[in-house]
Amino acid sequence: MPFPSPTLAARGLLLSLMLMLTACQPAPTQLRIQGKTMGTFYVVTVNDAFPGGEAALQREVDALLVRMNQEISTYDPGSIISRFNQGPAGEPMVIPAGMAKIVQQGIDAGQLTGGKLDVTVGPLVNLWGFGPDKRPVKRPTAEQIAKARDRVGIDKLSLTTQDGKFLLGKAIPDLYLDLSTLGEGAAADELAALLEGKGVSNYLIEVAGAVRSEGHNAKGNPWRVAIVEPSDRPGAIEDVVIPNGMALSTAGSYRNYYELDGQRYSHIIDPASGAPVTHRLVSASVITPTALEADALDTALMVMGPEPALAFAREHKLAVYLIVKTEQGFEARFSPQFAPYLQQQQP
Ligand code: FAD
Repeated sequence: MPFPSPTLAARGLLLSLMLMLTACQPAPTQLRIQGKTMGTFYVVTVNDAFPGGEAALQREVDALLVRMNQEISTYDPGSIISRFNQGPAGEPMVIPAGMAKIVQQGIDAGQLTGGKLDVTVGPLVNLWGFGPDKRPVKRPTAEQIAKARDRVGIDKLSLTTQDGKFLLGKAIPDLYLDLSTLGEGAAADELAALLEGKGVSNYLIEVAGAVRSEGHNAKGNPWRVAIVEPSDRPGAIEDVVIPNGMALSTAGSYRNYYELDGQRYSHIIDPASGAPVTHRLVSASVITPTALEADALDTALMVMGPEPALAFAREHKLAVYLIVKTEQGFEARFSPQFAPYLQQQQP
């Protein structure tokens, strides 16, 4: 049974993850780099030697992220995904293996969640002003929503293999593939593979809300990830997670939103209604072996809303941590599978 955390409920809103890096003094081998990517930020901390040192680490991380942007950024009109979106139907496009893996995760998670996650939801995302297009000056009409919804559905997308190549196809010319919700998790996994390929076994990676870690920090302790209070108190911590080599991803409706005519619209779109969600779930965190999978599921849970999300976690035995807005403030609810990762639950 999921159980609420009264301390959290009392203290209020939990809204994002923040890495607890500043508390420890870097050891001589510890390297830390950071930068911007995918419209957000990344931080990579390595507690081992990296061949070529910090400059090489920065160079290789940036090159990997640039390559991923060139593949899956809908914000880059020249990217592979943009060319797919602009291209005709009926002629499948050869795409790189890394991009195919992300698309496949989108298709799989879409099927698992009954279409709550939908990587073709882009026309609706753009209509509501959360994609590369401009913010709307008034609420989209029912007719505009219906028209955008006609273009949505993973049944209109196909991913096949032929002679070792990955072929991406679409059934309608104006299908719009949007992998924004998966990019950060995919990047965290690819960065983890890059580090492990260089013999690094102690690292912490954060790409916005997606976290991968392995081994220990400079003090020899397991990496800890703080869940921070989204209040005016900078850095106030609500809960601490010890991922122990597992991936952690968080989605929320609290940061990316706008107000129009007194109504708040978040960037999480329910493909069934064609509109931003309006329920009281403000944040969903998921722990799975890969950040790509966690990143797919956290958004799907955000679409579902609090009770269905917990029921889904129970059914699929997932490690899930939710923050729900209540009349009294905010309340954390987590599945039994999440409890072992919370520092407060550990002996
Ligand atoms: P998440 O919960 O992980 O994802 C929410 C996003 O997924 C929404 O914003 C929407 O795009 C989409 N979505 C909403 N509902 C659904 C649904 N039901 N099913 C599937 N998807 C849904 N942003 C910029 O502002 N500028 C950039 O240059 C830029 N470049 C990017 C490049 C790449 C390669 C990627 C992957 C993203 C880029 N972004 C950019 C987008 C941005 O960084 C975030 O990915 C986006 O704001 C959502 O991430 P999140 O973690 O906040 O939310």
